[in-house]
Amino acid sequence: MGRALNTQYKIIIGVISFILSINAVGGLLLVARSHYMLNQYAASHSRAISLDVNLLFENILTDYYIKLDNYRVTCRDFLPRAQQFVLSNPYIRSVSLTNQESIYCSTISQNKKIPYTPNHVGQRVSIEYINSSPLVKNSDVFLLSLKTWKDSVKFGINSLIIQDLLHTEMNYYTPTFVLGEYQVSLSGIKKVGDLNPDGYYISNNQYLKVYYTISSNNYNNYFLIHYSYYFIFLLILSFVLGLMIYGYLMRIDWIVIGLKGGLKRDEFVPFLQPIFHQDGRLAGSEVLVRWKHHKKGLIPPNEFIYSAEKSGQINAIFNRLVHKLVPPLCLCQRQLPEDFHIAFNVCAPQLIDPSLLRDCSFVQARLKHCKLVIELTERVQIPDDERFFDEIDRLKAMGIKVALDDFGIGHSSLSYLKSIQFDVLKIDKSFIDMIDENYSNAHIVANVLDLAQRIGVPTVAEGIESDFQAQYLKEHNVEFFQGYYFGQPMPVDEFISQYCR
Ligand code: C2E
Ligand code: CA
Ligand code: CA
Repeated sequence: MGRALNTQYKIIIGVISFILSINAVGGLLLVARSHYMLNQYAASHSRAISLDVNLLFENILTDYYIKLDNYRVTCRDFLPRAQQFVLSNPYIRSVSLTNQESIYCSTISQNKKIPYTPNHVGQRVSIEYINSSPLVKNSDVFLLSLKTWKDSVKFGINSLIIQDLLHTEMNYYTPTFVLGEYQVSLSGIKKVGDLNPDGYYISNNQYLKVYYTISSNNYNNYFLIHYSYYFIFLLILSFVLGLMIYGYLMRIDWIVIGLKGGLKRDEFVPFLQPIFHQDGRLAGSEVLVRWKHHKKGLIPPNEFIYSAEKSGQINAIFNRLVHKLVPPLCLCQRQLPEDFHIAFNVCAPQLIDPSLLRDCSFVQARLKHCKLVIELTERVQIPDDERFFDEIDRLKAMGIKVALDDFGIGHSSLSYLKSIQFDVLKIDKSFIDMIDENYSNAHIVANVLDLAQRIGVPTVAEGIESDFQAQYLKEHNVEFFQGYYFGQPMPVDEFISQYCR
């Protein structure tokens, strides 16, 4: 029971670790995948924004060449058309003509000369950010410059229009423009110098640089929106898988697997417990198996015998016990009392296995001075099968005595009593335990003993632990006595040195 719980506990721990590790590994992979995908998304959308910038500026310039370029000879000619141009183009707020030191013609300041030093001298087309416009007080502006042979044309663009290009559909990342020493984002424009703009540099736009940043919130949102379903699926799948594995592992009889190893390593040994006559003379001995486990030490039969009987491994174990017990006992059998009984525990399925007859014949052939007894136990139910009863007849015909083990507790004992002629009844220890000085359960014990007497075969009482119990049983005419009070189960050589004299 303890070992079964231990195994169940280990299986539960194993299955939980399995579920946790699947989720940890799967979760990490999903997080890595969502990081990668979000970066791909941000990079490709930032490139698209960079193309929008080009498109905006190219549209302005194309429009200029179509509508204005031919009218730049004098400011007077230029201004009315330039005003028309500004009104018809939603992206620009002013057009100005500048030379090296001033703005000399503008849709804002007309033909007034305003001192101004241009920034970009080299490039034909360029964009600059001016946080304080020379033409409009307290206003910032983006200036798109087109250099011609004579002077420069400057298109004033509202900063909101440039910022508007940075709108993203899903808010999964934050794109920014870097223009000279300014970084432009949707939330505002800040000075960064040319030191370290925030985010990853993405495109080599000819006018400005495009950067993007992804915050941990962005990563979380992206994961929740795109990958949480996968994670929930993984969670459910791992649970279902875990439950299936649990069910499968729980169905495995681990003891059977352990027994296989025990048989391979030849770890099963016989112990002998003496049985006495009423007058204290040695009457025989019961063979009780012990598993000398190479790691866990001595394991009592209650922890493995049921699995061994169910799996049929009990046949091989029985064979090992016989071959370990017979040779040493053979050498000293003459020193044992006459009519010494040697009793083996046998379960029903063993009866129809041919190895039982072989092993019994081996015992009888070697231990000629001993009487062989088979104690029939009932843990694995005795099948209602003719072969089973035939085998018992055959054993009896060989002179082997058959005892009914655990008399009184097996539910079908009484029905077997009808069909099998038992030679001995072994009264189970649980009844002997009821014999105490208070006589509290005396009537139950008395009834079982009475039934045994009526059946009319000799009785053995097992599990006697006190003088009081022994006296009680003697008074109730029990023939044979077995229990710690008389002698514990012991290794074969110890039994020989104690009783073969
Ligand atoms: P069982 O046939 O009823 O054997 C008696 C059990 O009671 C043995 O336990 C024995 O050690 C224990 N016992 C005897 N006297 C006393 C006592 O005074 N006090 C206490 N507390 N216990 C006492 P064990 O050896 O642990 O065996 C348990 C059961 O395992 C046996 O019950 C028997 O049914 C089965 N068994 C043992 N060896 C074999 C085997 O070789 N083959 C098969 N099929 N079953 C076996
Ligand atoms: Ca027994
Ligand atoms: Ca018993």
